[in-house]
Amino acid sequence: MNNLELWQSVLAQMQFHISKANFATWFQNTEIISRDNEKIIISVPNAFSKEWLSNKYNKLILKTLRDSDDSIKDVEFIIKPILAKDISSRISAANEKPEEIQLKFDEFKINKETNLNPRYTFSNFVVGSFNELAHAAALAVSDNPGFTYNPLFIYGGTGLGKTHLIQAIGNKVSDDSKKKRVKYFKASLAPIDLLILDDIQFIAGKNKSQEEFFHVFNSLYEKNKQIVLSSDRPPNAIAELEERLRSRFEGGMIADVSLPDYETRLVILKTKLQEKNMDLSEEILDYIATNVKKNIRELEGALNKLLVYNKINQTLDLETVKKLLKGFVFSPFDVANYKKIIETVAKFYNLDEKNLFDVTRRKEIVRPRQVAMFLLRKELKYSFPAIARKFGGKDHTTAIYAYKKILQENEENNKLTEELNLIKQRIYSG
Ligand code: ADP
Ligand code: MG
Repeated sequence: MNNLELWQSVLAQMQFHISKANFATWFQNTEIISRDNEKIIISVPNAFSKEWLSNKYNKLILKTLRDSDDSIKDVEFIIKPILAKDISSRISAANEKPEEIQLKFDEFKINKETNLNPRYTFSNFVVGSFNELAHAAALAVSDNPGFTYNPLFIYGGTGLGKTHLIQAIGNKVSDDSKKKRVKYFKASLAPIDLLILDDIQFIAGKNKSQEEFFHVFNSLYEKNKQIVLSSDRPPNAIAELEERLRSRFEGGMIADVSLPDYETRLVILKTKLQEKNMDLSEEILDYIATNVKKNIRELEGALNKLLVYNKINQTLDLETVKKLLKGFVFSPFDVANYKKIIETVAKFYNLDEKNLFDVTRRKEIVRPRQVAMFLLRKELKYSFPAIARKFGGKDHTTAIYAYKKILQENEENNKLTEELNLIKQRIYSG
């Protein structure tokens, strides 16, 4: 038996022992890459698979290997990132019957009992350093709801996978145990084992809702029922959130999702293509991954647009791609302009734009104003006198002071760093 056959037989066995979702998550893109006497070396795509396989499945894998070949005494896992070319070869293999190509966009329906969309699963969620922690926490929660991290709070900019991830938890819990009652979004008082609330920032300022939610939260929490929340920002940055709710949210696990890098964007594109059984040239994929950087939703939108075009009109060349994707591609200077910065900063701190220019020493205003000045300097390279003029000042030392202060605090204060990152994400995501 060669390495390939040996691993195929292990994988075939594994499927009997673990759930489909777990199998897909941990065994996808693994293979035996070599054999060192009594030791088998298995490659895995990332650090999480490595940790998980060596802690959780080590014994089972070894036993299964030994069933085929009892001279094997040990296994070792090494990380070998998924290479673009491996994926493309699999895509081409899947594409052998072109007449069967179909666009599978609306194939899933919302589950009426849970309100979950079955399209959102762990197995089609791409993991990279930008979302590793949130993904690991979500998996841990879905394996042991109510007892690992409670609540689990996931935050990050729009289109970065929050909804996908928290619904994946719900889908997995309800698949693993048909007895568990899972509810997404609608907080009813019915008995629930897992409550998922998306975009919790909208509860801010609504006192009655906060009051009700506080009671629902407590009653579930006391019964060790899992609560999963998402928001566009961390709890400490949600203005007008009651202190008691904030402290409840902070009592569990807080994890963020941020922007994927070029390599991960490419992997995401290839994963989506594979799901749809479609293919595009490397050149085109490289163009999309290089230029569509705003978020994963946009990446998906760009891809779908090309696929629809490609289906009708088989000749998709780079020039056409560039034309089709005009609206998706931007340079930082297109979006980070003065208006955008002022608008975004004001909105982030729940102020009216004109408040930023108020002549006042009130802390709630001074800080946002300094942040706005800082960003004008940092992102748009405005001169200090130009900044001072915008803020109605004759003297540009205020602008210099603001810039230095934010720069220095950014080094020392994680909360501010986090705020600046979120604001920048929003400025650049349109
Ligand atoms: P958010 O709730 O943060 O605004 P969504 O969860 O709605 O973002 O994600 C936007 C789109 O991008 C969805 O279609 C989702 O399936 C896809 N997506 C997001 N993150 C990933 C990921 N890590 N891997 C694969 N697809 C993703
Ligand atoms: Mg969402």
